[in-house]
Amino acid sequence: MRIGFIGLGNMGAPMAANLARAGHEVTGFDLAARPEGIAMAESAAAAARGAEVVITMLPNGEILRAVAAEVIPAMERGAVLCDCSTVDVESARAVAGQAEAAGLGALDAPVSGGVGGAAAGTLTFMVGGADAAFAKAKPLFEVMGQKAVHCGGPGAGQAAKICNNMILGVTMIATCEAFALADKLGLDRARMFDVVSTSSGYSWTMNAYCPAPGVGPKSPADNDYRPGFAAELMLKDLRLSQQAAEAADADTPMGELAAKLYARFVEEEDGRGRDFSAMLPRFEKRQRG
Ligand code: NAD
Repeated sequence: MRIGFIGLGNMGAPMAANLARAGHEVTGFDLAARPEGIAMAESAAAAARGAEVVITMLPNGEILRAVAAEVIPAMERGAVLCDCSTVDVESARAVAGQAEAAGLGALDAPVSGGVGGAAAGTLTFMVGGADAAFAKAKPLFEVMGQKAVHCGGPGAGQAAKICNNMILGVTMIATCEAFALADKLGLDRARMFDVVSTSSGYSWTMNAYCPAPGVGPKSPADNDYRPGFAAELMLKDLRLSQQAAEAADADTPMGELAAKLYARFVEEEDGRGRDFSAMLPRFEKRQRG
């Protein structure tokens, strides 16, 4: 397939490389990055021209809207614009509306799996958009990932992503504060893990990504909390969840508190650049009040 790929940063570059390796004809564009092995165009519109699918992997909704305004007029009717960035639901829906009005297919297809999953081709795609557009992009999701879930119409992929990550942020905080309480109660961390990971408090953050070093399977905690999934990316997703909750008038008190705690951690404490599980050493140092 002829593919335009716009945004070749930490995630986009390995995703585009996997598509090229699988035999697709990939033309990239990025304002700054120049990854090896990808043919680069002079502009986003030039990368999009003649492509059957244009994939974007950009930092935020504002940039997505600007890039979409440039590439939509350059794309041929029937082609698909597939945004894999994590952006606000409103931007995803606005871009899909513009693309469909121009006779294009449109998908919002944010991913989970991080840079490791992007390199290994094991991402999970959460996809919103029409059936025909999903069917066209599916073979590409199969190259870049191991699973693609068609979640519904435009914006449904972003909705699934931010709801998942709201649960993840809240659960990580709960797991970390429970470890810090266990410490103060004199409970050994390995015993705590043994009990909780097989009891009703179990979760992905406890069982698969334990924030306590030396406990449970290997995780960023065992690597001095190097990310992994950086605290500032968790903050981005929690803020998107609260922006969506505000727009949809949904009551999300735990998500709101998680966003506040990660904001403090990233912006006022030492969280920036550390894995989001570094909430545990944060709680360890604190007292009540
Ligand atoms: P990144 O900052 O490494 O890459 C973004 C790229 O977009 C950069 O290379 C930048 O130069 C380029 N860019 C910015 N404006 C542009 C424009 N107008 N035209 C062309 N290129 C432009 O970010 P990333 O880590 O690759 O993340 C990309 C997206 O994926 C984000 O929305 C992020 O939230 C999401 N995401 C990231 C991860 C992760 O672990 N890094 C995991 C899941 C989802």
